[in-house]
Amino acid sequence: MKLLVVTSNPHKAEEIRSYFGGAIEVEDVRLECPECRHDDVAEIARYKAEFAWEKLGQPLIVDDTAFSIDSLSGFPGPYAAYVFYKIGNEGILRLTEGKCRDAHFETAIAYADSSGIRVFRGVFSGRIVEPRGREGFGYDPIFEWNGRTLAEIPLDEKSRISHRALALRELHDWLLAGGEHMKWVSHNC
Ligand code: IMP
Repeated sequence: MKLLVVTSNPHKAEEIRSYFGGAIEVEDVRLECPECRHDDVAEIARYKAEFAWEKLGQPLIVDDTAFSIDSLSGFPGPYAAYVFYKIGNEGILRLTEGKCRDAHFETAIAYADSSGIRVFRGVFSGRIVEPRGREGFGYDPIFEWNGRTLAEIPLDEKSRISHRALALRELHDWLLAGGEHMKWVSHNC
């Protein structure tokens, strides 16, 4: 089976390829998908997958990821990309100074083929710390799990344990089980 990974983020494509490790042939397609606004990454991923399916017409996945800080009522959540662009990890550290720094990532992977779209989720909990490490991307240097930041964890390990890996595992299990019961339920944005 060949799966298109539709993303404009090469790090995500790398992690997804590393997760499948040849079990499924993965080709990344740099397609900029419009994003809707929604509190739920699953709806955002579904929206992007619908767009990508209309353009490409081949089995594909898209990823949307939220980064949520408990003491900030889940901020920035699905607005993680905008907030990263505006204030970066420095800004997140300032905003959480003196506060509880528990946080989590949630990834929604939307899979689309001719029979519909199905969304799989993965949640990964940790805490915000001063930046460490050179691997990964985005919030990885300030997100610590089990004593290491994600930027201190090599790609082949992160791609087995992370929020993205957990969502991919759900997808993979479902594909191995035959991938049935999909419906063309449209997004709710
Ligand atoms: P999006 O899914 O591309 O909208 O990502 C939202 C934001 O979270 C972007 O700023 C990404 O850089 C960041 N991000 C997404 N996935 C990860 C991850 O696995 N580690 C660290 N940051 C991430």
